[in-house]
Amino acid sequence: MQQQIAFIAYIQRLLVEGDFSATYKYALLHALADVCIEQPMEDESAELTVELDTLVDKFILLYWQHAMPFSAVGVGEEALLLQNAGKQSKVISMLYQCQLAGIRNIRQLKESPSWPQIYRATLSTLKEGPLWRLQILSKQEECFLYPHIKGKNHIKLSAGIAHCFRRFYDLVVYLARNAWLQKIQSIKFNQDLIGQQSQLQDFLFGVDRNALNRAKPILVDIQNNICIYCQKPMKEEKVAIDHFIPFSRYSTDLGHNFVAAHGTCNNSKRDHLAALKHREKWHEQNLIVHAKTLSAELGGYFYCDEQKSLAVSNWAYSVASSTGAKLWVAKNEFMTAGQ
Ligand SMILES: [Zn+2]
Repeated sequence: MQQQIAFIAYIQRLLVEGDFSATYKYALLHALADVCIEQPMEDESAELTVELDTLVDKFILLYWQHAMPFSAVGVGEEALLLQNAGKQSKVISMLYQCQLAGIRNIRQLKESPSWPQIYRATLSTLKEGPLWRLQILSKQEECFLYPHIKGKNHIKLSAGIAHCFRRFYDLVVYLARNAWLQKIQSIKFNQDLIGQQSQLQDFLFGVDRNALNRAKPILVDIQNNICIYCQKPMKEEKVAIDHFIPFSRYSTDLGHNFVAAHGTCNNSKRDHLAALKHREKWHEQNLIVHAKTLSAELGGYFYCDEQKSLAVSNWAYSVASSTGAKLWVAKNEFMTAGQ
């Protein structure tokens, strides 16, 4: 039971604290979950050896569909969705070439003369990319799922991990797919292609950007135009309104949860909780000194309740502390919660 809770906590942290410039890590997480349920397991606490060959197969299966050009209904254009913040990921480009050459499915691919080359390239992508990077959380290796023993043609899931993947398969796959989807939607190039569809989530569950802009003048004012995180002056065009408790963690806009920060500080903080010194700053600024001002100024646009904001913040930090999550201090700088 303890391990199952630790497993879920780890997966949650991995999705927040991992560095996802491409979608490969989501694919690997998905693949690991698949591999665990695709074979019988008699001993729940056993280790599980996973051949890299099996992961290569899984990767190709997962990306095969993605290597077809996408076009939104009613929009004429058609193109491959980018799966990397930079250039297209190698696996997709390769699979696309195979599809152009008339290969229609994985079976045909395996029988085609290109297979050995595809196999080698995918294997090296796996090794250079997600395999030894999936478990880097907030820039540090934390090998909870499998130890990093390189130079073998398999990895070994630690004792009990395969059982956790089996037990929480739906949840892990749901989380991996959802994060994968969001990554694709966040890449600028894709947004023209996806069009209306990506706006649906924002529309239903997203941030009201217009309302957010209402919060800007008052926050800049009470912070004397100083970024709450790095304490340096902000230029007006670069000011971001940051959800102190990240929106991805708690998505109700409470008036006291907003702070003003540099766009760059805001981007670096992403979905992390801020370090304790920032929390003290936020607490003093928004819940003590300027609590009433914020309620008065923002009450027309947002739900304002200091007690609720405090409760949500206490909840978020107590979870972080119990899971050993890393808190964001500054760009590329983290600390462990609870220290
Ligand atoms: Zn800053």
